[in-house]
Amino acid sequence: MQCPCNPNKQYHDCCQKAHQNIHSVTSAEALMRSRYSAFVLANIDYLQKSHHSSTRPSKREKREILA
Ligand SMILES: [Zn+2]
Repeated sequence: MQCPCNPNKQYHDCCQKAHQNIHSVTSAEALMRSRYSAFVLANIDYLQKSHHSSTRPSKREKREILA
């Protein structure tokens, strides 16, 4: 499967690593790419995890994103 953030990469070689372990993300660009991919894949938990706690969406927002 292609990674949503980069058609030249496979998901398992790219953002999947970030999605499995957010601490493996070492650059701002990788974080932005992984967040984009999480959005495309509707990985809401990752989107929430990758927010700073002070800006994390509420449960209500999570339901709205899912909808
Ligand atoms: Zn990617």
